[in-house]
Amino acid sequence: MAEARAEEVDIVYLDYNATAPLRPEALDATLAALKSVGNASSMHHLGSDAAARVGAARRQLAGLLNCSPGEIIFTSGATEANNLALHAAYARGGALVTTAVEHPAILETARAVTEGEPDSLVVLPVDADGVVDLESLHGILRERHVALVSVMLANNETGVLTDLTPVIKAAHEAGALVHTDATQYVGRLPVDLDALDVDLLSLSAHKFGGPQGVGALFVRRGTSLPHRPLLIGGGQERGWRAGTLNVAGIAGLGAAAEAADLKLQTESARVAKLRDALEAGLTTRLPGCRINGAGVPRLPGVTSITFPGVPADAVLAAMPHVAASDGSACASGAPTPSHVLLAMGRTRDDADSTVRFSLGYATTEGDIERGVDAAAGAVAQVRSAMAATAEP
Ligand code: PMP
Repeated sequence: MAEARAEEVDIVYLDYNATAPLRPEALDATLAALKSVGNASSMHHLGSDAAARVGAARRQLAGLLNCSPGEIIFTSGATEANNLALHAAYARGGALVTTAVEHPAILETARAVTEGEPDSLVVLPVDADGVVDLESLHGILRERHVALVSVMLANNETGVLTDLTPVIKAAHEAGALVHTDATQYVGRLPVDLDALDVDLLSLSAHKFGGPQGVGALFVRRGTSLPHRPLLIGGGQERGWRAGTLNVAGIAGLGAAAEAADLKLQTESARVAKLRDALEAGLTTRLPGCRINGAGVPRLPGVTSITFPGVPADAVLAAMPHVAASDGSACASGAPTPSHVLLAMGRTRDDADSTVRFSLGYATTEGDIERGVDAAAGAVAQVRSAMAATAEP
């Protein structure tokens, strides 16, 4: 892999959905901002310099999303953007509708926001490929007054994509707003907010090569969103997110957005080929393994593979030089199986035997070759260890 992680040359990094390595452009922009003094709200010229960095980043991100810079609210990441979107939209009155495969930053937030009013939260089911059940959505929109429909563009565990067009049409016809958690999609596939008529969209910089701890909420101009900021204070971000702006993080986000935008088509095609090679290698070497969401459109760089009967944590432990994930990184270490795979109808055993490999802009063919070798070896090793302990 490229110099982005030269200090970790022994590790094959296949965990881009947890976090991507910092792009060199983002590192340069972040460092330049860190080395200069200035609060973006100060009136003197050093403050103006900081404000200029923020303004440039806003334009760079707007370029990636094809929206207006004034429609962006910088946050500490997608978690905060999701919290802000749900919190404010719920104040419209009506139910929150989301899906069973959302990230906890949506599902747990929706539960918290509707606490004490459990009828106000509707969680839509998905099919065996992880695709949202539109019939259920139509039914809810007919029966209930809905404030917001929140459906992710791409799933973090499986990479399964949602076709939002029918969701948006149905929700808008019923007077509901539409939010999408696009955290895993932005910077991996093109987003055109002129064509995609969502009202709100969340993203996190570190998934596309920006720094961690910075992200944004897009709010379409003219959206009737009650003014309910989570952070109240100095009135930054047009009163939607108080607090001194994280100039260095925002500058890094902007540079990463611009770099991702420039290379989006070539990177996504290249990464998809590498992902296909990874899947081909593993399914050939390990007959019986199953790719989750294989039958439907997915992100270019993600594969979720079940090795039936082989615990994923043991597989990961048996390949210490490969950085991959069992379930989602956020849930790793938790004793509960992946809620995404359970919602797709997998058994608990299958969910516990699933590894997520996620690739990105700096992944090489060599990474895939080493990754396939290591994973095939690890699965075989765990199988024979299990067979040995099972012997009488
Ligand atoms: N939504 C999705 C789909 C994610 O994958 C993540 C990160 N795993 C988040 C939200 C939260 O992002 P962050 O931790 O950067 O706030």
